[in-house]
Amino acid sequence: MDRILTALIVALALTGTAQADSRAKDLFGAQRTASAQAPDPIGFYSRGCAAGLVQLPETGPTWQAMRLSRNRNWGHPEMIAFIERLSAKATQFGWRGLYVGDISQPRGGPMTSGHRSHQIGLDVDIWMRPPGRLNLSRAERENLSSISVRSADQRRVNGNYTRAHAAILQAAARDRAVDRIFVTPPVKIELCKTATAADKRWLRKIRPIYGHNYHFHVRLKCPRGARHCVDQKPTVAQLSKGGDGCDETLNWWVTDYLDPPKTAKPAKPAKPAPKPKHPRDYTLDDLPSECRAVLAAN
Ligand SMILES: [Zn+2]
Repeated sequence: MDRILTALIVALALTGTAQADSRAKDLFGAQRTASAQAPDPIGFYSRGCAAGLVQLPETGPTWQAMRLSRNRNWGHPEMIAFIERLSAKATQFGWRGLYVGDISQPRGGPMTSGHRSHQIGLDVDIWMRPPGRLNLSRAERENLSSISVRSADQRRVNGNYTRAHAAILQAAARDRAVDRIFVTPPVKIELCKTATAADKRWLRKIRPIYGHNYHFHVRLKCPRGARHCVDQKPTVAQLSKGGDGCDETLNWWVTDYLDPPKTAKPAKPAKPAPKPKHPRDYTLDDLPSECRAVLAAN
């Protein structure tokens, strides 16, 4: 029944009828399995889809996938390998492994809720909560919550943040497959203070951003030879001007960002620039054309 319904929705979308039904988030959100195609991240992290994704096993020796009901534990094979690698490494720092949040939908694409990105199988959210056990039931994985590592005033890390967090983030940033990692700014500030290694270039991959206090978000580079995958620009080297990003742009997040200086408001432009479309409103036409074949594939 599910398959027939999906086929019908895809057919409708392909013929270009029924506006609402051709919203990309509905089409990709309805997919239950990966496409039987070679692995191929198509487009950009926040505007694309993915062929040939692989499901992260719900439980592994050093990880558990959380919130299984969302069916977002699908990633590019390089992402699955990365999660296996990093979670094994986490045990060296005293954790049992990692609780793994959303990766992508079975065929990637825009989502009906949450993330703008996570569309091409190369983004993953990893919980800040150290796993207590790795034998959580399905129900426990729905109900357990992560923990925040940020103080209530958003200016520093709190007591939940440990040296193990720092070690895991450093290991992740040093992984060659990783393009960048998004964390709450106080975590980066703390890493800037405590990093001891002579080579601090890994710190440039740690990018401060709002949110990201319950999880950190790892984004992998486009894999070698993935010709439909669009690299993110500016690069982290450009963003940190060749340095480590431990500078005034970082401090802004815990000063002016939280407490904007009172200055005269700039005059509003006569015609405000149109807001860019949110991925939730994308139609198939907004995505790379290859995404139609991903939907239509077995
Ligand atoms: Zn994320």
